[in-house]
Amino acid sequence: MQQAVILTDEHIAALYPHLLKDLRVITIPAGEDSKSITTIARLTKELLEIGATRDTLLIGMGGGVVTDITGFLAAVFMRGIRCGFVPTTLLAMADAAVGGKNGVNNGMYKNMIGTIRQPEFILYDIQLLQTLPQEEWSNGFAEVIKYGCIFDAGLFDELAQHDLAWYMQNNDALNKVIERCVAWKNRTVAEDEHEKGIRKLLNFGHTAGHAIEKLYALPHGKAVAIGMMIACHISEQQTGLDAATTQQLEAALQRYHLPVHMAIDTAKVMALLQTDKKRKDDSINYILLQDKGKAVIHPLRLPVIEKALASL
Ligand code: ADP
Ligand code: ZN
Repeated sequence: MQQAVILTDEHIAALYPHLLKDLRVITIPAGEDSKSITTIARLTKELLEIGATRDTLLIGMGGGVVTDITGFLAAVFMRGIRCGFVPTTLLAMADAAVGGKNGVNNGMYKNMIGTIRQPEFILYDIQLLQTLPQEEWSNGFAEVIKYGCIFDAGLFDELAQHDLAWYMQNNDALNKVIERCVAWKNRTVAEDEHEKGIRKLLNFGHTAGHAIEKLYALPHGKAVAIGMMIACHISEQQTGLDAATTQQLEAALQRYHLPVHMAIDTAKVMALLQTDKKRKDDSINYILLQDKGKAVIHPLRLPVIEKALASL
């Protein structure tokens, strides 16, 4: 028999009981710590206990943590069941829920266990963002600004003109911005689902960003904001990016209450970069900007990155 099971986090379940009543719901504790193999094992058992079969549709309702776990669980449960997503954070609507990447962490190693597999549907409504804390809005805007940086100078300029409070009040503008990011992501994934080429550009800000996120326990968006600033500084040296663009990015990030600088321990960041999934021998395919709206894949040797980090 076909049936749907909703997977959400405890926080969202408590905020939206009216949407979930009469549905089969399983929950995880809110937060990144849930992204583990232990959670997958527990949820597998729970699905079996409530009678899930190969025909079950698993629907993940939540932020990127929930959609990542849902996608992975659906990919491996009984060797694969259908899934769909209802993203409830700006970050998940504009970026994380789109593109089919899923997975869990292995201790400190982020997203090291996972698959690439597209959901049946993604359904979102920005009304759900009314309950989202401001800090999570900021995190989402880090990824939104990322799309402007790598693909879309027009989007970048629009974001740089407005600010967080403005988008929180302007539903139409917010919907358009999300649609624009999703369109860029869909286009990228359609061309390169398995990240052999152009999809790598989406990692702008994420190389140093992931290391900083782990080392300093920063939220993803904040770490990506700092990572994008680092990538711009390196770009100035490597691709001749105009320093004015770095300054524009800095000002834009601040309009969305995102950090732009942090005193980092270069040795510790470098140690983590050595474990980066994207590392090849002693260089990393770093994503740099040539210009506003134009990112490039640029292999950088580890010592070059180290020197750049130390000079920040
Ligand atoms: P992401 O990876 O998308 O940033 P998470 O799944 O880590 O998001 O969610 C971030 C936090 O926001 C979690 O505590 C989650 O419970 C909470 N959250 C998600 N959606 C909403 C919402 N619509 N309203 C309030 N809180 C939410
Ligand atoms: Zn990200």
